Amino acid sequence: MDINYSETEIEFRDKLISWLDEVLPEITESPGNLNRVALREYDTAWQKKLFEAGYAGVNWPKEYGGQGLSPTEQLIFLEETTRRGAPYVGMNFVGLLHAGPTIIACGSDEQKAKYLPPILSGYNIWCQGFSEPNAGSDLASLSTKAHRDGDVYVVNGQKIWTSYGDTADYCELLVRTNPDEKHAGISWLICPMNLSGIDIRPIKSLTGSTEFCEVFFEDVKIPVENLVGEENAGWKVAMVTFSFERGTAFISEQIGAFYQLEELARLANELAAESGTLDAGIKREIGELRAAFLALWALTKRNVSQAEKTGVPGPGGSVFKLYFGQVKKSMCDLALRILGEQALYREGKDEATSLDLVTQRIYTLSLSIAAGTSQIQRNIIGERILGLPK
Ligand SMILES: Cc1cc2nc3c(=O)[nH]c(=O)nc-3n(C[C@H](O)[C@H](O)[C@H](O)COP(=O)(O)OP(=O)(O)OC[C@H]3O[C@@H](n4cnc5c(N)ncnc54)[C@H](O)[C@@H]3O)c2cc1C
Repeated sequence: MDINYSETEIEFRDKLISWLDEVLPEITESPGNLNRVALREYDTAWQKKLFEAGYAGVNWPKEYGGQGLSPTEQLIFLEETTRRGAPYVGMNFVGLLHAGPTIIACGSDEQKAKYLPPILSGYNIWCQGFSEPNAGSDLASLSTKAHRDGDVYVVNGQKIWTSYGDTADYCELLVRTNPDEKHAGISWLICPMNLSGIDIRPIKSLTGSTEFCEVFFEDVKIPVENLVGEENAGWKVAMVTFSFERGTAFISEQIGAFYQLEELARLANELAAESGTLDAGIKREIGELRAAFLALWALTKRNVSQAEKTGVPGPGGSVFKLYFGQVKKSMCDLALRILGEQALYREGKDEATSLDLVTQRIYTLSLSIAAGTSQIQRNIIGERILGLPK
């Protein structure tokens, strides 16, 4: 792995920075998570802008609308867009960061041609239908059934915690096609969300948002041509999805958190100047967090470098996901300690408040659950990386 950027990569970065400097001043603020229709409009409008300017799918194949560049250039794209405060990937998360990459790795040519370009142009939003009320960590025990009837699969069952289920056009759906097998009885289907028999019930979260949904399937007919990979080999395809979801999907959040730490250090200095003292323990914690973020960055480059060689990030994604969740939580805890009661009213007063600390701290709770819990990541690291017994 070469951790230095090549001349072409530096040129790519310079061009991107000029483009961002030109377009970002015109971009308005996001309407926020509560206004789902406006948020879809906002997130997809930014994606469309990227597509038109030749910055969508930096490392996706050219024939499907991508730029055909390397994962390292994609990393540079994420670094610069995050550093400059460009809109977050938002509702395009599943399509761009794991459903699309899974189709690139495992889909047929027809599937790639049909589904990839509308993801890149912001035309289609995707969601993930994996978890069920009785199948979360033990996902392979899922029971949403699909039986083949001619040229369709007839699907019956229920999914839960389907993020963006309320706005998505397509779902990456795991179904049981063989009831006599566990892992070897699962298939990965592309499910259009407008099919008859699909009932989407948004779940209102503590913050008032309805991005999670329960999705019910009653005799839903999905064309057999929407099967990705082989029938009953969907577990392998799902592992590819997870390797992208855990290994590379959170990179821009990681970069964003690193800039938040810089902002936090500035804020700590500012408050210390007001009170005349800066606690040595706080200085040390900021230093340790900075080192932790640099270690995460090195790990990200390692995962990206592996993806560059094999097309798919490896189990290192579990290390990244576990550690990122811990570091981000420690950073938010420290921020709340530095700010004290000011965390409650500082919001909106100056630049440092863009930390939006209380919300960020609550959000970190979900990082230890989403895309597989921290305990499950530890199991994977123990078994697949350290070679420990099951
Ligand atoms: C923000 C967020 C977004 C999400 N988005 C989606 C989505 O879009 N699509 C989707 O399908 N799902 C989504 N999920 C669901 C998520 O994948 C599940 O919540 C997660 O896999 C855990 O499953 P569970 O909730 O059923 O918990 P359970 O599996 O019931 O786990 C309960 C507890 O037991 C522990 N545990 C279970 N088994 C073991 C074991 N073998 N060893 C050690 N500990 C164990 C777990 O770590 C956990 O602490 C999302 C969740 C969150 C928080």
